[in-house]
Amino acid sequence: MNKSKPPLYRKENTTAHAVKSRRRRGDFGDTRHSKAEVASEALRRPMHGKIQQGRDYTPLFRFLLSKVGQPWPAVHSEAVARLDRADPIFWIVALREEDREDYIRTGESSCFSGLYVDDDGILRIVNPEVGPSTMEPDCRCCTHTFNGVPFTKKYRDPVE
Ligand SMILES: [Zn+2]
Repeated sequence: MNKSKPPLYRKENTTAHAVKSRRRRGDFGDTRHSKAEVASEALRRPMHGKIQQGRDYTPLFRFLLSKVGQPWPAVHSEAVARLDRADPIFWIVALREEDREDYIRTGESSCFSGLYVDDDGILRIVNPEVGPSTMEPDCRCCTHTFNGVPFTKKYRDPVE
């Protein structure tokens, strides 16, 4: 345990948009958000329920990304020592092959690379081809990021 290092979470830093969409959940009359976004919001709601508990684990996800290529046991024990709870580690790191995901959505408009531990115990990126230039924003009003980097594709209005 290294007490000099800061925790890998912070009190939730709520954006104006996140607050608004939470209050308005179920209000399908919000014209600033497309039907497609409302639908995708409904799809990701289980993930929201898990993540929005007053803590933002973005520092954890950045830490884990910075450790790609390193032996998992040391990375894991440092992460655990700097967290209030261990389970957010496994929102992004898959230990079983069937749990691997190309990317993980960690908030209204932020995603991170899905990670896994390979047969040699090394932390790896599931799909290095997926990144800020391959993802499409699902609304116009937010800055969407992938591993903290803004998407390069612009939002396109859904075709009627
Ligand atoms: Zn938005």
